[in-house]
Amino acid sequence: MKNKAYKYNHSFACFTCRKAFKREVDICKIKDTLICPNCGGVSYNLGRHFKAPKRMDTQQWKKVKFLFDNGFRFQKIRIINGSHVIGTVPYPKTLLEAKGFVAKYKNRFFVHLTNEK
Ligand SMILES: [Zn+2]
Repeated sequence: MKNKAYKYNHSFACFTCRKAFKREVDICKIKDTLICPNCGGVSYNLGRHFKAPKRMDTQQWKKVKFLFDNGFRFQKIRIINGSHVIGTVPYPKTLLEAKGFVAKYKNRFFVHLTNEK
């Protein structure tokens, strides 16, 4: 078992059937998409911090898709004060909040990203 430390569970989600599942990925060859095991469509890598909404919660899934379409993959956005990280920006709870969130953080996204991929 080599490179065990470089493997992480990433969440993948299919927006077609609203199915989410975890897969262990090798950090050196992370896949952006996998075949959805439920419908055979495309499921997308949403990273390590994604928590899937309930399947029937279409509003939450719309929010997730909206964030995804705008380049967010649920990475932590650090709040930095000088050279100190003082916290992380909480992800929006609703689609409405998500619109403000994207407008506010989209251009600063990579500035606040950590090195995790
Ligand atoms: Zn699916």
